[in-house]
Amino acid sequence: MAILPILVAPHPVLKKKAAPVAEVTDVERKLLDDMLETMYDAPGIGLAAPQVGVSKRMLVIDIARGDEAPQPMKIVNPEVIEASEDMATYEEGCLSFPDQFAEVKRPARARIRYLDETGVSHEIDADGLLATCIQHEIDHLDGVVFVDHLSQLKRAMILRKLQKMKKQGRLAAAE
Ligand code: ZN
Repeated sequence: MAILPILVAPHPVLKKKAAPVAEVTDVERKLLDDMLETMYDAPGIGLAAPQVGVSKRMLVIDIARGDEAPQPMKIVNPEVIEASEDMATYEEGCLSFPDQFAEVKRPARARIRYLDETGVSHEIDADGLLATCIQHEIDHLDGVVFVDHLSQLKRAMILRKLQKMKKQGRLAAAE
């Protein structure tokens, strides 16, 4: 496995709609493993392929807490097939927006269909933190980042802060 560089916003790949995976092969399985290692190293609870520069519909998630056994999820071609009308608000962050956090409102529950790393189809009902995390990561596959859910003012503020961090050399250049 390998730790991959994570793109920091703004970056064109983060704004692009990612392509569906035609077949889950060893190439995708290796990428999913590398993405998990990269996510644990960061550390984070979710990572989408575009964040490591690969514009494919793949993501990894592990919302287990520090004192729980790891619960890695490898998700390919996810689709939201049902979302609840009631909403939930969580303070979100993103590995492509280091040290930036903001409250985002999303459907509290969602039914998700996806392929696992062997190409087998699954459907899960996600709620709580998992629902938020999966929807955040699926957004990445559509070129949407969490600050796109905020007011223009808040979004501009966060992007300015990132720019400043980049200038001060506190972030690796995301080229
Ligand atoms: Zn993110």
